[in-house]
Amino acid sequence: MLGLSRGELAEALRAVEVPDREIRMRVSQLWQWIYGHGLTQFDGMLNVAKPLRGRLAERYSLARPTIVSEQVSIDGTRKWLIRLDDGSARPVPGRSVEVEMVYIPESDRGTLCVSSQVGCTLTCSFCHTGTQKLVRNLTAREIVAQLVVARDRLGDFPGLTPPTDGLVPPPGTRAVSNIVFMGMGEPLYNLDAVRDAVATMSDGDGLSVSRRRITVSTSGVVPQIDPLGRDVSTMLAISLHAVRDDLRDELVPLNKKYPIAMLLEACRAYPGASNARRVTFEYVMLKGVNDSPGDARELVRLLKGIPAKINLIPFNPWPGSRYACSDWATIEAFSDIVFNAGYASPVRTPRGRDILAACGQLKSETEKLRARARLMTDAAPGEPTPA
Ligand code: SAH
Ligand code: SF4
Repeated sequence: MLGLSRGELAEALRAVEVPDREIRMRVSQLWQWIYGHGLTQFDGMLNVAKPLRGRLAERYSLARPTIVSEQVSIDGTRKWLIRLDDGSARPVPGRSVEVEMVYIPESDRGTLCVSSQVGCTLTCSFCHTGTQKLVRNLTAREIVAQLVVARDRLGDFPGLTPPTDGLVPPPGTRAVSNIVFMGMGEPLYNLDAVRDAVATMSDGDGLSVSRRRITVSTSGVVPQIDPLGRDVSTMLAISLHAVRDDLRDELVPLNKKYPIAMLLEACRAYPGASNARRVTFEYVMLKGVNDSPGDARELVRLLKGIPAKINLIPFNPWPGSRYACSDWATIEAFSDIVFNAGYASPVRTPRGRDILAACGQLKSETEKLRARARLMTDAAPGEPTPA
């Protein structure tokens, strides 16, 4: 049942013969137990009559996806690899996938970075995910499950104990206060699932992460930007990365379909954008490619009139990538120009580098490490072969 919407819970209750007149009340009870209290067993649902709890347990479960591995960085960043089936009653063999998510604790917040797809259909030239084929879209349930698993593990439900290592709990706040769709995949190519997942994650009777604290990042799927604002109402982040179409065509090939002017027009019209709810522009700093003072000035010019924040991301190199990260002095000079034009321009501090938790490296690195570990074990004579 984990990850079900209210409508799906109602269906599930009808299937165990809960009478129509009780459905609303029962849905609301289950909702609070599942998403408010994080229960993993029907037994603890004290206001649900015992026979009904029994019927529910016979037919359903509140099982979580398995945490396959957990790594904790020296800076407190935590990376999990979790195994998901497709959430259907009879999971289709081969549909089970592994995705990574990352938890980034800061002094005033805790951010969970979730995935919306396994792999990506797009091929941004600086992104490691872009070198992997799309395996499949995640379902809404699988997206919600990422948040629930993180909160389980962080002790972020009533009665659970937080881990003692790694976590810097924001004083007086919840462990997961913010969510960013900046893991694997292009969320706007899986918008229906993202919409349903956000509805569950932001519901005030349950998981309660406000839509203003959820950010969806896109490489620029222009036709889906307005629907995102209208139907999902999260914060918007745009992976801009270049200020000229010829360069952006190369870095973010989707630009050939939806060039910069068209993309910025959609941002200008983003429903709900205001000075209090700015659009974030992500800009990855690539040495000698997009990092000149002229680029910075052009960026400021382009964003005129859009309530914007600019997030400078030091490029995170991966084996085989053709780019390098800009020098620190270059990043600072770029950031100064943007700042002097009146924009907040924080440089995103690289986090979790020791556990390979950085942008564009999710999942693939774990697979590579596994392959490497296998190779090493295979090469060592007399070692037992791994399962
Ligand atoms: N597909 C969406 C969301 C996932 S990528 C998008 O492209 O926006 C999340 C962010 O990480 C994007 O801004 C992406 O451009 C950035 N990113 C990808 N690979 C990176 C790398 N190697 N170094 C720094 N940032 C990277
Ligand atoms: Fe896909 Fe985003 Fe990576 Fe581009 S940057 S390949 S859209 S995940």
